Amino acid sequence: MGIQSYFSDWQSLEEAIKHCHKCPLYRSRKNPVPGEGNKNSYVMFVGEAPGATEDEMGRPFVGAAGRLLTMILESLGIKRESIYITNVVKCRPPGNREPKDEEVEACSIYLESQILLLKPKVIVTLGNVAGKKIFGMGSQQWGGVMKMRGKACKLSILNLTILAIPTLHPAAALYNPQLRTLLEEDIKLVKKITESIAQETLSLGDVQKSKSKTKTLLDYLK
Ligand code: SF4
Repeated sequence: MGIQSYFSDWQSLEEAIKHCHKCPLYRSRKNPVPGEGNKNSYVMFVGEAPGATEDEMGRPFVGAAGRLLTMILESLGIKRESIYITNVVKCRPPGNREPKDEEVEACSIYLESQILLLKPKVIVTLGNVAGKKIFGMGSQQWGGVMKMRGKACKLSILNLTILAIPTLHPAAALYNPQLRTLLEEDIKLVKKITESIAQETLSLGDVQKSKSKTKTLLDYLK
């Protein structure tokens, strides 16, 4: 098979994922999970792979870990429907094992197409697999989630300038209060940064407002 080109619309992308046999994960999946949310959002959340509940329902982050993430988002006033959320691989690895490198590679065209269609300004990576993939796409070294979390990093991905904000996978925080606190701190940072972006976007057309003393995006960069 030759080099596959990017999908130019959401419908053909989602249709292709539904019928995809590009890696062995299609054999054990019940439903592929393309992703969902606001396709005009400038914030994208990327997790690792669907789990059992996601596989049943064909929707991302709807199991216990997803509910925790939704709760944290909403406690900070971020509506889940306002963001776009997906995973590195779109089909559930058996027994929830980590996806293999070759599965991540086979599925990459879908995530890349989603990034090109959405053109997010911010990508929040949930866990090591997502962090490694997104930082790899930005040709940056991934140092592990505990080292990378809690700060934003400017990446150039597919010719787009994107702020990556790595954090833990909510599944890791489910039964660990310390990790949950870290996850909450990181999501607070996401909120601050997205508010700054909203402010900067608004102030573009208003010279007076551009003198605002609120933090700018640059203040959050490493
Ligand atoms: S995980 Fe990705 S590449 Fe593998 S079958 Fe599913 S959609 Fe296709």
